[in-house]
Amino acid sequence: MINYDKYKLSTPEDYGSDMVSNCCGARVDYSDRCQYCDEYCEPLEEYEWDAIQKENYLEAREDAEREEQ
Ligand SMILES: [Zn+2]
Repeated sequence: MINYDKYKLSTPEDYGSDMVSNCCGARVDYSDRCQYCDEYCEPLEEYEWDAIQKENYLEAREDAEREEQ
C-alpha cells in the first residue's frame, strides 16, 4: 500500500488532475467521492491505478500457471 499522506505532499500540484478511485478506477470528484460507486475512496493517479491492475493481472496469471503445473 502506498502512504497516501506522503504521496499527497509530494505531488500537490498534480492533485485533482487525473485522479481515479482505488475501489474501481472511476473518476473522483473534488470531495474524493468515487463517481461510479458514489462512496468516499482513496484517490490514485491514473497511472498508479493502471500499475495496480497490471500487477493484479500478472499475479493472477502466475497463480493460473502454478495451478497448471
Ligand atoms: Zn468506485
